[in-house]
Formats: sequence, structure tokens, C-alpha cells
Amino acid sequence: MTTANVLFTEEDAKYIIDCRRTLHRWPEGGFELPKTVSFVEEQLDSMGIEHTDKYGLSSVVAFINYKKEGKLPVVAIRADMDALPVVEKTGLPFASEREGYMHACGHDGHTAMLLGVARVLKRIEGTLKCRVKLLFQASEESSFDKRSGAKLMCDDGVLDDVDMVVACHVDNNIDVGVLGIHKGPCTTNSNPITLEFFGRSSHATRPEEASDALAMAVLFIDEYNKGLEALVKPGEVVFSAVCALHTGGDSYNVISDYARIKMTLRTYNDEVNDRIENHIRALANSCSKKFGGSVKVDAGINYPATINDPKTCDLVHKAQVKVVGEKNAIEVGYDRISEDFSFYSRIRSSCFFKLGTRNEKKRCIQALHSNDFLIDENALSIGCKTFVQFVLDRSEEA
Ligand SMILES: [Zn+2]
Ligand SMILES: [Zn+2]
Repeated sequence: MTTANVLFTEEDAKYIIDCRRTLHRWPEGGFELPKTVSFVEEQLDSMGIEHTDKYGLSSVVAFINYKKEGKLPVVAIRADMDALPVVEKTGLPFASEREGYMHACGHDGHTAMLLGVARVLKRIEGTLKCRVKLLFQASEESSFDKRSGAKLMCDDGVLDDVDMVVACHVDNNIDVGVLGIHKGPCTTNSNPITLEFFGRSSHATRPEEASDALAMAVLFIDEYNKGLEALVKPGEVVFSAVCALHTGGDSYNVISDYARIKMTLRTYNDEVNDRIENHIRALANSCSKKFGGSVKVDAGINYPATINDPKTCDLVHKAQVKVVGEKNAIEVGYDRISEDFSFYSRIRSSCFFKLGTRNEKKRCIQALHSNDFLIDENALSIGCKTFVQFVLDRSEEA
């Protein structure tokens, strides 16, 4: 059986980089991806690959080896396509030509790699003993407005015939040439919380007539910060911070009848999230009562934590070793970011791995979402080959 390193050509590498640069020039966000989707569809058409837009919103799902009769295992590979509302400051010759938008999270690279996977697999489609579903997904970056592209595709049954699903994310903390996996929970859930305290205003000299909403909010912040550590049991990981406080007024002598807090709660475990979220609700309630007011709490997980199945991780690791060698396929720590790949990971055995894109000589060192975010494009071939190798191995096993 051949390997991805043998199948993958110089032209494939060039193709992926060209695709990435085309996508980089025209970043689009959320579900508004007309040019991006057209580009992906045109590329698939030119390769003679069937595809559909019937899952979720603004997605493209392509099919490899779906014509062969009989029951075959199905592998899904996912790439997100959306960019961010960021003004690009990279100075790249192929920098964003769309003011106010930038591919600052590397999804241009993810999409280009998946097109590369399509191109390589199409050449050997006839020899495959498994099917492959390529998921080009919209709106990954929308955890705050509850509009996950992955969730909509899952709701429409995109994984119904799928046995395993894999994806990767570029990572400038990991050197180019290196691939990383963290088994088990690997990205946090996202739980953005809004607390609105309601009281009664009065003149500052008549506090006995007021119900001070600002005092409720301040008491909540103080008690929450003091008590959080005690809520977290050994072995649990929790990130939580109060990040904004606004009041109804802006005056020297009127007691506020309204205060709003925005805060974040991130964990790797639904039960831990629920325990702390319940605590937040109870504490907010008691703080509002103390000053004779009330509170409205808007909380709940938007994106769950991604759970990497050790079984699929072991298989991806084997593919990685074949591509980059044992010493460059490493175990990494878990990530503090949230990712809507989690929706797939809750339905099917999955692995979300890290693609090293760091190169200090080329200044590829910035954090995701920075306006000067650069990646070492040589990594894209490595990511593509890893997916191809993973498919070859599944085909071999079938
Ligand atoms: Zn991002
Ligand atoms: Zn991302």
C-alpha cells in the first residue's frame, strides 16, 4: 500500500498554497460566505467531485468514493471556512482586500488543506475501500451569538453515515513540522454569561428609598471572586472571569436602578460547568435580594468542550508518525480556546489535532486572532498528508 508522502506531489503543495492565498485575499465571516463557498464549489467541480449544500447553512459537503456499492466505513474530515472582523496588519502581498475582515484564525489554511485532500484522494478514489466525506463548514467563530455552523450541519444529519470525524487547527505555539494531539477533553466549553440587576433609583441623599443595582453587582463580583476557588475540586480546570460592568446611569448623585455584568465560564466538563453556573445563578439571586432588587441571568453552554476519543487519536497518531516521524508527533496539553468541532465530537468518535505553524525565522509566532497573524505555509502540506494517510490507513483496515 502506498503512503501519503509518496502520493503527495510538489504540484499538490503549490495548489494548496495558491488556494490558501486566494481565500486569504477575500475573507468572509459567519454564514455570509458567498465567494468562499463559490470558490470551494468551483474547485470541486474542476476535480469532478460531487458535492451538496444541503447541510446547515453556507456549507459544502463533498463525497469521495460514494459510487461504489456495498457497506463501507465512512471517514469525515472537517475544515472551517470563516474569517474574523479584524483589520489585517500583516503587510502580506496577498493580504485581505476586504476592509475590516481577516483570516486571522487560519481557516483559509484549513479550507485549502481540505481542497488538497480532495485533489489527492480523487486520484486514488478507485482503490479506496472506505468513503470520505469532506465537510467545508461556515461560522465556527460565532460562539457569542449561538450560531455554530457545525451544530446546524449536525442537526441536519451530516454525520449519519459517518464512523469517525477528524479535523485540525493551525497553531503557532507548535513548530512547523510538528503535529500535536491531546486525548480526552481538549478544548473548553464556551459559556458567556450576562447578569442584569434591577433595582430602584433615587437621589444619592435618599438611599433608604433606593434599591441599588450597582451595589448588587459589586457584591456579586466580590463574593464570586472570593468563592470561586473553593468551588473547584482537585483535578478540575475552570477559567472564569467577570469582564464587564455597566450601569444604567452616569451621574454623581443618582443611585443606579440597573447594572449589567458580562462574564465567562469555561471548563472541560459539562457537570463542572453546571455546578458553577448554578452557583452563579444562586449567588446573583441572593446579592439582588440583599438590596431589595431582582436579577435576570442569561447563561448556558454555546459550544460544548471537544472530547477527543483516545481510539481515534491513536489512529491519527499512527498517521502522523508516517508523515512526520515519531519524534514530531507529540502529545500536547489541552487548549483554552473553544471550538465548534465539539458538536461533531459529541456524536461520533473524533480527533481534533494541532498543526504546528510556528517559524520564528519567518516571524510566524503570533497568537490566533491577532491582526498580524502569520503561518508557515509549509505546514499545510503536512496537514493535508496527515488526513490522506489517515484515510489510506482506514481503507487498508476495511
Ligand atoms: Zn478562531
Ligand atoms: Zn479557528
